[in-house]
Amino acid sequence: MRRSPATAPTIARLIDAFHRLPGIGPKSAQRLAYHVLRAPRSEAEDLAAALLDVKNSTKLCQICQNITDADPCELCLDPQRTVATICVVEEPLDVAAIERAGVHRGRYHVLHGAISPMDGVGPDDLRVRELLSRLGDPEVEEVILAMNPNLEGEATAGYLSRVIATMGVRITRIAHGLPVGADVEYADERTLRAALTHRVDVEPEQNSDGS
Ligand SMILES: [Zn+2]
Repeated sequence: MRRSPATAPTIARLIDAFHRLPGIGPKSAQRLAYHVLRAPRSEAEDLAAALLDVKNSTKLCQICQNITDADPCELCLDPQRTVATICVVEEPLDVAAIERAGVHRGRYHVLHGAISPMDGVGPDDLRVRELLSRLGDPEVEEVILAMNPNLEGEATAGYLSRVIATMGVRITRIAHGLPVGADVEYADERTLRAALTHRVDVEPEQNSDGS
């Protein structure tokens, strides 16, 4: 961002840092920076500590690959949640969205992305191997594919359904109610609840799209 000489370099640096965050335009970045400047020192210290903590203290759950402070994560350790159903999502934020909908009482698996040949992202770049090794557990009965309704989500769900087809688990897909282009992360609770409740069985595909 172009900086006016009237802005002190330290403030300009903070404005730039906020501006790099997703969804923050130049105006918002300025507002946030001046807010921090005027806020009590303790608020700035809390913010700085929270930023560093999230980088220093979080890790991936070795079971579901979600971002967690404790490994295994709380969801994987919860005895109230069935191991029979694994809901596979693209991103950690999708877990939070589906949890808010409150309809899935099974486990999760976070892929950390979706297959995208255009961006050079293939199955080996995602947490697919970890998912397949979980499916070796005879207690797992169903895999719910909760990918986003876009090209990458379709490619990922298609690939997963092909490789899982031989493993003797039921494969379902959230379908109804989730409009094309509406990412899981942003879907409202009612829509997600309907999408999970009315999930459909995935028939093994005959053709291969080469992914
Ligand atoms: Zn976990």
